[in-house]
Amino acid sequence: MTSYTKKEVGDLVDGRLPFNTVHRMLSMPKDVERFELYLQVLQERVSWPDKIILARGPHLYIVQDAKSKRWVNKCACGHVMGEYHENWKLYANIFVRNSEALLNELQPKLMAPHHEWQEIREFICPECGIMHDVEAPVPWYPILNEFEPDIETFYRDWVKLPLPEKAN
Ligand SMILES: [Zn+2]
Repeated sequence: MTSYTKKEVGDLVDGRLPFNTVHRMLSMPKDVERFELYLQVLQERVSWPDKIILARGPHLYIVQDAKSKRWVNKCACGHVMGEYHENWKLYANIFVRNSEALLNELQPKLMAPHHEWQEIREFICPECGIMHDVEAPVPWYPILNEFEPDIETFYRDWVKLPLPEKAN
């Protein structure tokens, strides 16, 4: 098992490592410090004091609010998008591509899905405008909630870190 430096983990997060290095890092058993280093790298890149518990995506985190100790979903810009157990997408601005014209902005005609059978939903932070996710369901399908992490088990059994205090 190889240990990596904080700089290497930062380069991994930024996508600056060569493919072979990334492949080796991701396919080998993880060194025990990896998750802690990863959290440190993420924490140094945000301007707010809330402790990052888990990343939901490149710019969206589950954090422990520094004052209330409640766990919430938070954009890198600081905008809160619901409590950690809620679907953060319901707090986003949602741009729905549900017409031929809107779908053809992304894909050429005849290569785009038919708008009666599929729509594309873009989930955007209401404060900074970054797009956190895209889903492409059938038009009548509810908004997906694709990730409900078991943080307690992850911290206890996988990364073996003390669980941050939780007030909710
Ligand atoms: Zn934002």
